[in-house]
Amino acid sequence: MSDRRSFLKTAALGTTGAPILLSGCAPGADPDLQEGGGPDPDPVRPVALSTWAHGIPANEAGWAILTGGGRALDAVEAGVRIPEGDPEITSVGYGGFPDRFGRVTLDACIMDESGRCGSVAFLQEIKHPISVARRVMEETPHVMLVGAGALDFALAQGFQRENLLTPESEAAWERWKATNGETRPIINMENHDTIGMLALDQAGNLSGACTTSGAAYKYHGRVGDSPIIGAGLYVDNEVGGATATGWGEAVIRAVGCFLVVELMRGGRSPQEACELAVERVIEKNPDWREIQVGFIALDKWGRTGAFCIQPGFNYAVYTPEEGNRLIDAGSRV
Ligand code: ASP
Repeated sequence: MSDRRSFLKTAALGTTGAPILLSGCAPGADPDLQEGGGPDPDPVRPVALSTWAHGIPANEAGWAILTGGGRALDAVEAGVRIPEGDPEITSVGYGGFPDRFGRVTLDACIMDESGRCGSVAFLQEIKHPISVARRVMEETPHVMLVGAGALDFALAQGFQRENLLTPESEAAWERWKATNGETRPIINMENHDTIGMLALDQAGNLSGACTTSGAAYKYHGRVGDSPIIGAGLYVDNEVGGATATGWGEAVIRAVGCFLVVELMRGGRSPQEACELAVERVIEKNPDWREIQVGFIALDKWGRTGAFCIQPGFNYAVYTPEEGNRLIDAGSRV
């Protein structure tokens, strides 16, 4: 039985042996993926896919690794380190907007082709949380470290302690304090734009990374979806990967990225899976008209998808045929 055939056999049943049903949808609607259906999609490799415009330089950094025959895992780590280290990007890493007490607190996670994963949350004073998350994955028996424990671990691993609050972000925080004091981000404003990145390497392996300074002016101690495996990121090498951006609380309620991957396992294309996951987020969040949530997805064959609630979310996709492009995602509204 070919890889595709055995994949489809499991896909049609889901993990429990029962068909996967979502409201209003029959399983396995993609005719290209039906058992006995059309031909296998032509695989596209490598592929890099990232959220928002800062995904363009992230893809660029990852592409050098992918086209050199490197691992998707190395590509996604190298890719997201670019916005993490850029002080002009106020939603990730260094220069990220702080919480309501003026502290920059970071969340990140990473997942490789074998299902290994690592995560840090509420981490302060370390510029590259994604690399700490990778060390958690590779150097500890755990998946997730948080707060002071994550910082201790990072320092023990040789990471340098740094002030991540730039004068510009501090000034923005001072303005916020003086004006409205609201915590919930304005839709699509630069106060919440996580970098999530997925890559498929030449060997056909998938990995993903997700890193953020979270919602600007959040409560001290707040952790969003981005470091939570299954919510902000999920990768299954037999199926595909997904990552999320937007109001993390809404993504957590729907376990968004696990849902996207399970929908692909059930035969949905990456695009269909993202659209259905957005519907689920809407079902689970009565305030959905006031929030933004977006998903991107990449499957085993290099097919991509993206969808969001509100217009304004864009993503970067890099393929051998079409280069590195910024695309506006379709939206529910
Ligand atoms: N999802 C992130 C969080 O809630 C922020 C974002 O992507 O806009 O922390």
